[in-house]
Formats: sequence, C-alpha cells, structure tokens
Amino acid sequence: ILTAKDLSKTFSNASEQQHVLKNLNLDIYQGDFTVIMGNSGSGKSTLLYALSGMDRPSLGTITYTGTNGTRPEEISKYSNDRLARFRRNHCGFVFQQNYLNDSMSALDNVMVSGMLTTKNRKELADRSKELLQSVEIGEKDWKKFPAQLSGGQQQRVAVVRGVINRPEILFADEPTGALNSQNTNNVLEILSALNNDGQSIVMVTHAIRAAERGNRILYLADGVILDEIEIGPYRGDYKDSSNPQQAEAQE
Ligand code: ATP
Ligand code: MG
Repeated sequence: ILTAKDLSKTFSNASEQQHVLKNLNLDIYQGDFTVIMGNSGSGKSTLLYALSGMDRPSLGTITYTGTNGTRPEEISKYSNDRLARFRRNHCGFVFQQNYLNDSMSALDNVMVSGMLTTKNRKELADRSKELLQSVEIGEKDWKKFPAQLSGGQQQRVAVVRGVINRPEILFADEPTGALNSQNTNNVLEILSALNNDGQSIVMVTHAIRAAERGNRILYLADGVILDEIEIGPYRGDYKDSSNPQQAEAQE
C-alpha cells in the first residue's frame, strides 16, 4: 500500500548535517500490522512522518497505492494541499500524547474529526458512539471533557478519533508510551482487534510487549531497515493490490 524508495532525511542542525534516514527502502502491505522498532533517536518518528505525509523526505520517493487497485501515486511529489488531502482521506493518527481538544467532549472530539470526510451527522454520531462503546467508553462518558477522563480512557478516545474516517492506514507513534501496563494492554487489544477487522496499522514502539502485536517487525538502525521479522503469514501480502504485478498475476 506504501513503498519507500531510497528515502533520505537530513536535518541541518546548528553546525552540522544529521543524516537520519539513509537510502532506506521499505514496503508496507495492506492488512498488515507493521511495527517499527529501534533505539531512541534512530529515526522512527522521522520515518513515520515521511510515510504518512506529515513531513517530506529530503530525497527519495514514497508511493501510495489505494486499496481499490487505483494507480500508484507518488505522494512525495504532492503539493502541500494535496498532501493534506492525502492525510485526511487515507491516514489516521495516534500519538504518545492524545492531543484531544480539551474544550470539547469525548464524543465531539471524535465527531469533529469525522466531519472532515462526511456530512451525514446522524450516521457519524451513531458510528462515533458505536466505536466509543467498542473501546468501553460508555454513554455516561461521551459528554465528558478529556480532563474528566482517565489517561487510559483519553487514549482510547484518541484511537477512536484516529479511525473514525476509516483510514486506509492507521499510523501510531508510541501510542502506549504514556500509559501504565493495564492501559497499555487495553490499547494494544484495541489495535489488534482493529487489525483483525482489516485495519492496516503502522506502529512505532520500543516496547517489545507492544511490538509483539505486529505481524511484521522492522528494526531501524543507522538510517536503514537493518532487520525484519515476520510473525506468521503476511495478512495483506498476497492480496495486496498495491503491487500491480502481483495483482495482475492473480487475475
Ligand atoms: P524516540 O524513540 O526517542 O522517539 P526516534 O527514533 O523517534 O526517537 P526521531 O524523532 O525520528 O527519533 O529523531 C531522529 C533524529 O533526528 C534525532 O537525533 C533528532 O534529534 C533528529 N531530529 C528529528 N526531528 C528533527 C527536526 N525537526 N530538526 C532537527 N533534527 C531533528
Ligand atoms: Mg519518536
């Protein structure tokens, strides 16, 4: 669904250039729960930002192929507006901090995000409530503000907000990094359940407990993918329409 080719990212700090990603090559397959691991400072977030169109690579290309066999598009060549549209229409995000809007209820946080892609308020409200319910945020909590919810509940709202627009890929950067072990398990269960329902996920983590949830673990070091572990069969690989050659071969 995403292909990174010869990806490089260089930051110019005070006096020197820092090469964070160095000619990195990578495929992300539809349906997979892909985990990116690596030491602190190895460039995991930088890679995630590039893949999700939040930032641009210094060099190299990122190609996105929609799930309906649409023609591959080089998102790294998009204009800023087009890139923003790509993020809105195809990507969902969850971060270490929940970044909920403090002045809105849990339900409104989800719905405001959902309104980016739908105008049907009734359907959106129903779907938002259903999703909140599915992560055990019940009716009595829908009208609460983030500050009135526990940290675990807040992050569950953030996950719901991340998937409300039915993103083709959910990007998560240390989504359990700020949670205790019970809430960590909780959020990981939710991500696993979403993936089992077909949600493609790309998650950055340095916690082995979290990484275990993935079916494919990529290890980032020295600016490249140094190692790769597959756990069980790819979920998306064989039916992946993002590889035109494969798709053709199946017809
Ligand atoms: P962590 O596990 O601590 O979150 P990470 O693997 O996500 O680390 P990145 O945040 O991708 O690491 O950062 C990789 C390197 O790039 C770091 O050395 C960081 O200082 C540098 N870096 C990241 N973003 C910028 C930026 N906007 N400007 C300058 N340097 C940056
Ligand atoms: Mg990071």
